[in-house]
Amino acid sequence: MHRSHRVAGALVGSAVGDALGAPFEFGPPGQFSARFPVPARGAKTEMCSGGPVDREPGEFTDDTQMALLVAQSLLANDGLDEADLFDRFVRWAEAEPPDIGAQTRAVLRCGAVAAAEHFATTGRAAGNGSLMRATPAAIWFSRFGTEATMDAARRISALTHGDPAAGEGCAIFSELMRVALDGGDPLEAVPSALALVADERRERWATVLAPSWTPADATESNRAVWPTLGQAVWGLRRGRDFAEVMRLIIDLGGDTDTVACVAGGLAGAVYGMGGIPMRWSSAVHGRVPGFGDQRWGLADLQELAAALDGKPLVKYEPGVISRIGPTEVLPGIWAGNLDGARYSAEDFAVISLCRLGDPFPHEVHRMAYVADNEWNHDLDAVLADVLDDLAALRADGRRVLVHCHGGASRTGLVLRGWLVREKGMSVEEATAHVAERWPHLGLWNASFTAALERLRPAEG
Ligand SMILES: [Mg+2]
Repeated sequence: MHRSHRVAGALVGSAVGDALGAPFEFGPPGQFSARFPVPARGAKTEMCSGGPVDREPGEFTDDTQMALLVAQSLLANDGLDEADLFDRFVRWAEAEPPDIGAQTRAVLRCGAVAAAEHFATTGRAAGNGSLMRATPAAIWFSRFGTEATMDAARRISALTHGDPAAGEGCAIFSELMRVALDGGDPLEAVPSALALVADERRERWATVLAPSWTPADATESNRAVWPTLGQAVWGLRRGRDFAEVMRLIIDLGGDTDTVACVAGGLAGAVYGMGGIPMRWSSAVHGRVPGFGDQRWGLADLQELAAALDGKPLVKYEPGVISRIGPTEVLPGIWAGNLDGARYSAEDFAVISLCRLGDPFPHEVHRMAYVADNEWNHDLDAVLADVLDDLAALRADGRRVLVHCHGGASRTGLVLRGWLVREKGMSVEEATAHVAERWPHLGLWNASFTAALERLRPAEG
């Protein structure tokens, strides 16, 4: 898998976990599966409202807000400037975000030396509030090796969390992230990361990160840093894909947004952007109190992730192209190109297979991670995710509009895939069927046709 898929997956995955877990925050175990016994792929998904703070479905919380502050400070200063970052935290806290953690608020109200003092006077500071924002710096410093990664993690943690235990948790997390972004197995890297933890704190961390540890063994609530990272690593060990990791984690209850945010960062780095279900990544959004009215969405997070990995920060502007479609190619399934879809009736459920530039106004809008080339990672999983959502949206009675930039190759992949899977056609039959009805069909990606050959007709 190309590193860029992992980098985007890490940042988007952490925001997705945050937003997905938020409605269940401080609830009992099992609530996610009780509410969603099976995946919810129609117009309404598992990105729902609810929880202690009134939020829109898909809206991220303080975890991602603070992570975005870290990311922007790193970019603005070309590295870690603790004074600048602390100022950003204070400005954010002064805007009174509704869900700021008690410890973080207490420290940010008192100034830069407060974290150590707060710990000295209370002795209770090892919350998970610094771990929850650790992903952006883990991405940034991963290019500079283990020592730089763990050192920066400890320093950023210490801005609000005076207990070095919290800093060690951030350091371990960031080293696991570094390994994952390089294509390694973060679970195999646990022992080498533990070897770099301060002696007096190693044993407690080794306990919660051991393969035999389960959430039932936790000695604190998961608002503390140890069980938060312990549960995230446990979920990563147990889950077979991104979605299963999220379900396992949120079903643990308690501080669900933060644990899912931490687990989502690691799982996103492991499974990549294409491993995150598009119904979740498409819905994730939010604003950062104290920093204007910018609405952060999927494309913004992807562009930010690339910049954290050393690429230029560029907002994608596709320009204006002449519109093609929407045209009803199969019953209830329409096709178009980028601007054909952008300016279509807003009651369409839109499935986008290309980058968009400015977001669309449509209420139901899914964005899949597919490139118009032969280098997609795990195209089978992405195609299955798209076809499953397409089936669910059709079952909801929605007109579905499938499009990519030119409406040719990627759009054709999904239309042909629909016929193979839902109508039992051969790839040849499906291709002829679509070509007759959609003259824009493009067939230049051999890997797309190969993926269609691996599709099986849906059961029933
Ligand atoms: Mg939160």
